[in-house]
Formats: sequence, structure tokens, C-alpha cells
Amino acid sequence: MNCLKLCVSGGKQLKLKAVAIDGDLGPVHQDSVQFDSELPEFRTHGGVHIHPDGLTVTSPVLMWVKALDLLLDRMKAAGFGFSRVRALSGSGQQHGAVFWRTGAARTLTQLDPGQNLHQQLTDSFSVQDSPVWMDSSSGLQCDALQEAAGGAMRLADITGSRAYERFTGNQISKVRQTRPDQFQDTERISLVSSFGASLFLGRYAAIDYSDGSGMNLLDIRDRMWSQICLDATATNLKRLLGEPCPSTAVLGPVSSFLQHRYGFSGSCSIVAFTGDNPASLAGMCLHQGDIAVSLGTSDTLFLSLSEPRPSLEGHVFCNPVEPDGFMALLCFKNGSLTRERVRDRCCSGSWDVFSQALDGTPLGNHGNIGFYFDTMEITPPAVGLHRFDANDRQVSSWSPELEVRALVEGQFLSRRLHAERLGYSIGSGTRVLATGGASANRQILQVLSDVFNAPVYTIDLSDSACLGSAYRALHGLVADSGVSFLDLLRNAPEPQQVCRPHRSAPQVYDPMLRRFAELEQKVLEKSRF
Ligand code: ADP
Repeated sequence: MNCLKLCVSGGKQLKLKAVAIDGDLGPVHQDSVQFDSELPEFRTHGGVHIHPDGLTVTSPVLMWVKALDLLLDRMKAAGFGFSRVRALSGSGQQHGAVFWRTGAARTLTQLDPGQNLHQQLTDSFSVQDSPVWMDSSSGLQCDALQEAAGGAMRLADITGSRAYERFTGNQISKVRQTRPDQFQDTERISLVSSFGASLFLGRYAAIDYSDGSGMNLLDIRDRMWSQICLDATATNLKRLLGEPCPSTAVLGPVSSFLQHRYGFSGSCSIVAFTGDNPASLAGMCLHQGDIAVSLGTSDTLFLSLSEPRPSLEGHVFCNPVEPDGFMALLCFKNGSLTRERVRDRCCSGSWDVFSQALDGTPLGNHGNIGFYFDTMEITPPAVGLHRFDANDRQVSSWSPELEVRALVEGQFLSRRLHAERLGYSIGSGTRVLATGGASANRQILQVLSDVFNAPVYTIDLSDSACLGSAYRALHGLVADSGVSFLDLLRNAPEPQQVCRPHRSAPQVYDPMLRRFAELEQKVLEKSRF
């Protein structure tokens, strides 16, 4: 019988999912529990509660526990072979925090296999509603942290990101200030990922370096909690967080509770859980120098980096699969929805006409450069439509064809510019991995390939966080003996190459990128007024 590697992942916030893979890396079992429809007693919409202030967003922690009971019960009923699982890992939405009540550690070690987790952990949380990644209510705490750290840039230098409201350290500050009694009654704080690992271990699991990088608390270079950030957040915080661990760490065997209740083997290892974004990077098997571009409602860039340069935009995290490496994440709000608006206005709503416009216009668009921020952009913080001709003079309109190319080139020049600012550089082996709705469009991908001067491959990301966690479980078993993640996964499904850059691309886009950077500065100055 083959050995299995199992992963349990909480998707952005909608469901809990399990995937088991065998030695050939293929999924052999999948199951999931939808929070809203299958656990309606928690009254969540999209897995969360949005509070009346519109800023506070939380999820009931017991809903996550009950979802795990349901998922494991269902797998058992389906005859899943728990005893064959050699290693288990998982992922959880980044940034969310779980506050364990004093005494919960004891409860975790004394779980009775005759009852489910949910019944036994009902009183184990000092804060029942966990803050999650959608929360934006900790602005005051962000200001205070940045001031204590010596400014936004200094904080980004230490932790990989300037202060963000959803980042866990600022959420912890807010709980300490607004709910002092509950904070006082807390003996441990977990991330959603390490909380999941704790349920499998039967004791508190360490926070891994990669997910820990999304807290504004970890020094991403030393891979230790930053004393400045800890002191600015809460006294004795180090004790509440525990020591962070490498993302490849084997934390111990599965709990005796799970061995007795579901038939897991005592030799099944729990590998540190991590955040959903780092787990996705693992699922994509990104090589050093590769860049993944998700072209969905918003556009997101994932990068694997060896020498990061944290900036006021984007995030640098410790890499979940390379011991000394880093990864970066950049979000762009004006992605597919902006492309759709231009398609509707210039191409009668047709992607075919949109694609023909790209085919019918030259690389570099005769020197015309456009910025299309329908709504306030995240990267960079600018708004409005700005068109510049080849002499950098502002113009008010273009033909539909020029407009389409200006939009797509402008979006990809921006993706490249901001990736390079975080330390990315295009090398001879660079691959661009494209995913998301717009990766179905060959002409859009050709522009991507030309602007990055690299071949473009397409991949399906729908399961990448879950699959990435199963790959990480496998890697955790051998990481200590020096086997690299990518060597281990060389038989994983390969992405498909769809475009190669035109030979003239670097002559066109290298100088155009320099002009683009200068024009973006002008646009930013305008957006400030
Ligand atoms: P989400 O971020 O919601 O998961 P998807 O990755 O499913 O989004 O992408 C949806 C977007 O894909 C739509 O908004 C649409 O604009 C875009 N899209 C779908 N087909 C095409 C196409 N042929 N060309 C360009 N964009 C497309």
C-alpha cells in the first residue's frame, strides 16, 4: 500500500479542505466543508462576520474546530485510510489570530477520543471571534507600531512590510487595548495555521517563519521575533507566541486523541503548517527567479527571492520551502475589472476584438503609455486615468486599439517595475507562470511575455495552497537530510509553455520601463492632490 501525505487547508475563509497525495504526487482523496452552508448555526457570510463598523471582520474559532470534526468524520465514513498517512501539513488564511484561554494547553493533552473536538474545546478560547485577514480596524495600532519602530520604512526593513491593519501584531494590540480582561485570560496566541497544527498535535504548535512574516512582528532576516515590535505590541508577548520555527520543521507525531479516534498511525509526522500564500507558492513549485502572475479580479504577483529589498509597497516573507530564501507578494487592485471596462468601451464587450487590438498594434505602442486606476490602487497608491504620448505629454484620448495596448502594457510594466523594486531581476532562466481568468487570453499573455522578456507558462492555481501543503508534508520528512523541495518534486505536473518573448522585446521595454517609472512618479504626485 502506498503511503499518503495529507494536508488540511482553510481556504481564504470559505471552507476547510483536505487533499491526500500518494508517492506519485497525485491527489488520491479530496474532501471539504463549506462554512456558510454546512455550519449555518454560526451565521457567517463568506465564512466571516462583518461588524457594524464595517471595519471589524471576524470568524468564530469554534466554527473552524467543528469543520475539522465534520471533515474527519466524513473521511472516516468514506473509508479513508488514516493509518496510511505518513506525514501531514496544512495551511490557513494569513494574518488571523486565535487566542487560547488559560488552561487550554491542558485540555488539548487530555482529549477524550469518545467525544469530538468541538465539544471539548468549547471553553478553550478567550476571544471567541478571531480577527481575520479582511479586518481593517487597527489603524491606530498600526500608527503606534510604526512610530515605535522608527517609521514605516524601518518597520518594513525589519518585518518585510510596513504596518498593515490585518497583520496579526496590530490585531493583538487592539485586543489588548479594547478587551483587556480577555487578553489577560489568554495563555497562547496562534495564527490560523499554527492553530490548525495544534489541533493535530494535541499541544501548541510553533508559528512557522513564513506565516510569521505576516504579523509585523518577526525579523525576517534573523528569523526571530523583533524585540522592538514585541515591546510595542504587548508585554510578555514572546511567551504568548512561543518560539517561531522553520517552515519545514517536523513538530512531532499526530496526537494520541487522533490516533484513537480516527486510526492515524503513531508514526505520522506533523510538519509545521503555514499561511495560504506561502502554501500556494509551494504548490506552484516556483523556481528561484520565477515569477507567478495571477490575473484574477485583482492581479497578484508571487516571487521567489534570494536578496529581498522590502519596500513601502508589497510584502516580503520568509520562503516556506527554501531555508534561507524569501518570497514576495504584490497586490494590484485594478486588474481584470479594469480590462473588462476597457473591453466594453473600446471593443463592444468582446475579448476577441480586444485580442485583435493587441495583435494589430506594435510592441511599445508607438511610445504611448497609460495608467488605468479606476479605483484607488494599492500598488502604487494612485487613482484616475492618465495617458502620455511618446513625448511624455498628457493626452485625453486614443483610438480603441492604442487604448487596449496602452492598458495591457501599462499594467504589466507596473507589475515588473514594482517586482524589481522588491529585489526581483529577470534572469536567463526566468519563467513567468500565469494563472487566473485572464490567463485564458493568449494575446494578453504575449504582452506579459514581451514586457518581462521571459517565456510564459500557464498553471491552474485553484488547489495550489492545499496541494502545496501536501508537498510540504512530503518535504518535511526529508528536509533535514538536505533534500531540496524542488528536487523532491521534479515529477510534479509541469506547467505548459504558451508564449515566448519577441526578439526585439528588451530593446523596446527596458527603456520604456525607465520612462514608465518617471511617469508613474508624476501620476503619484497628481494623486496626492
Ligand atoms: P477571481 O479573482 O474572482 O478568482 P478569476 O481568476 O476567475 O477571478 O478571473 C476572472 C476574470 O477573468 C474576469 O473578471 C474576466 O475579466 C477575466 N477573463 C475571463 N476570460 C478572459 C479572456 N478571454 N480574456 C481576458 N480576461 C478574461
